[in-house]
Amino acid sequence: MNRNRNVKIVATLGPASDDYEMIRALFEAGADVFRLNMSHGDHAEIAARHSIIRKIEEDTGHPIAILADLQGPKLRVGTFKNGEEELAIGDSFRFDLDDAEGDATRVKLPHREIFEALETGATLLVNDGKIRMKVDTCGRDFADCTVVAGGTISNRKGVNVPDVVLPLKALSDKDRKDLEFVCGLGVDWLALSFVQRVEDVYEARALANGRAAVLSKIEKPTAVENFDEILKVSDGIMVARGDLGVELPVHAVPPIQKQLVRKCRAAAKPVIVATQMLESMIESPMPTRAEVSDVSGAIYEGTDAIMLSAESAAGSYPIEAVTTMNNVAEEVERDPTYRRIIEASRTADRATVADAIVAAAREIAETTEIKAIACFTASGTTAVLTARERPRVPIIALTAERDTARRLCLSWGTQCVMTGPVTRFKMAVVAAVRAAVGQGFAKTTDQIAVTAGVPFNQAGTTNILRVAPCEERLIFKSEPDS
Ligand code: PGA
Ligand code: MN
Repeated sequence: MNRNRNVKIVATLGPASDDYEMIRALFEAGADVFRLNMSHGDHAEIAARHSIIRKIEEDTGHPIAILADLQGPKLRVGTFKNGEEELAIGDSFRFDLDDAEGDATRVKLPHREIFEALETGATLLVNDGKIRMKVDTCGRDFADCTVVAGGTISNRKGVNVPDVVLPLKALSDKDRKDLEFVCGLGVDWLALSFVQRVEDVYEARALANGRAAVLSKIEKPTAVENFDEILKVSDGIMVARGDLGVELPVHAVPPIQKQLVRKCRAAAKPVIVATQMLESMIESPMPTRAEVSDVSGAIYEGTDAIMLSAESAAGSYPIEAVTTMNNVAEEVERDPTYRRIIEASRTADRATVADAIVAAAREIAETTEIKAIACFTASGTTAVLTARERPRVPIIALTAERDTARRLCLSWGTQCVMTGPVTRFKMAVVAAVRAAVGQGFAKTTDQIAVTAGVPFNQAGTTNILRVAPCEERLIFKSEPDS
């Protein structure tokens, strides 16, 4: 299932996408990474979706990444008797600690510490800021509010309190349980919500203990302030525009998105632009022009991945949403302006032999007709360095490590192929040629570039670059030369 584009698509799974047929259809339409949102769905549902993804991976023979998104210290309301309620301007509404299901007058807000931190006059935002309320009176276990901007409030919607510093831990007890659970299932990426400091990332890394790569969601003003430090200790980043646009004015989000995408690319770490990309497609089979423009904008900026949230998890048109992203991506990437922007925004970071090798491979792709850059990678480092170069030809990441292949599904332009163990460079060339021709990236008359680190079993040694013809004798011979 090779893609005709470089940018990757992350699709969130939910009630609208929880059986084999639908998830398989999303994969075939273009989803490269599936996101399991720990804020919704119980462990049995998460486990069921997880095993369906692994089954699709087995059936298609194509690595697929699973990203488990921890809820983090996000405030969420409880559930409603009727699932949802409409709130209008001037209505009174109470948040409390009562377990009873909510109605049009109240709902549980299961965070005791919040009631103690709230003050009269504070603003409470619900449902990505769509509903705005002012606190009139509050006590140790309730807050009575007046609705200032109305809308629909429904089960487990998020609540933001931008003007109050909330005394919350980076990982709640639920997050710790969820982290253990998903690491037990086996996920490739762990997303941390509401990261504020580097210490938050360290804490999660220690708990994950190498079982999953760690991605920090940037959705708090403090995370933007501490971004450079957070990036250093994270394996990837999500520009989580939903909460970011609530915690900060919406107009502050686009410049932050641009800065973060650039910094991630310079650091060779995958970045996802997320939230409301095709929001109207929750209910409509057609996106708005503005949404298509937003998706294109993120791709022109050079993001590694674009993401669907409710569009694929709870909307009426999940397949259409993935197809739309796929079509937009193919169109943008065919545009010569796209190449010019991508090349003009490359950072000249040439500190190591590996940097020099991947840059040279990319230059060969610019000046000759090679059809792919194949890189042997154990940890994935050579592949992400190659992706940072944003070369004109596909990057074939060859690895014997299944976890590496899966994690790389999030990286720009990287097509992952599993190989057996390789001990000599000649074997690597044969495996690369077979993968390039076998996967349809090259014909037997074409050439490809092959990069590797010798000796093979040491991480971080990328030191060989060769341009190899995809000769038939290499492909059909039963045993490669030693
Ligand atoms: P969420 O994160 O969907 O978990 O809230 C993404 C965002 O805030 O944009
Ligand atoms: Mn969020």
